[in-house]
Amino acid sequence: MAGNITFTMIKPDAVKNGHIGAILNKMNEGGFKIVAMKYTRLSKEKAGEFYEVHKERPFYGELVDFMSSGPIVAAVLQKDNAVEDFRTLIGATNPAEAAEGTIRALYATSIGENAVHGADSDENALREANFHFSGTDMYM
Ligand code: ATP
Ligand code: MG
Repeated sequence: MAGNITFTMIKPDAVKNGHIGAILNKMNEGGFKIVAMKYTRLSKEKAGEFYEVHKERPFYGELVDFMSSGPIVAAVLQKDNAVEDFRTLIGATNPAEAAEGTIRALYATSIGENAVHGADSDENALREANFHFSGTDMYM
């Protein structure tokens, strides 16, 4: 399965701004198959746990507050080379630097409120998928 799946979230800003449909459409057009999906809201505690790797970064508090500020869409996506290809589809962390046509260039508003999350390695994709979904809720 490694190399085959990635994990994503449509973040609270993009949900609030009405971009769920457009973003899912970009994922499908990009060749990604949705194998698990849910509309949910992270508690502050869960958001803190999810982004634990960034605990020492200066923006951690802001990130946890933002990610728990409203509902999100969490999903597991399947495609060859999923992690790398999805990071290409979403664009750079800072939307001002994101390539034209990428999800962040189109729908993100700032480096903090940047519309989508994409796992950064196969190992993290698996960890993050298992954080949100049980094996029986993934339909490969
Ligand atoms: P993500 O993990 O959400 O896909 P990323 O991998 O592009 O984003 P990371 O370095 O992992 O970027 O940062 C995680 C998230 O923390 C970013 O998506 C963004 O929401 C927030 N973030 C990163 N850098 C900053 C910053 N300088 N100021 C405020 N928020 C930031
Ligand atoms: Mg990251």
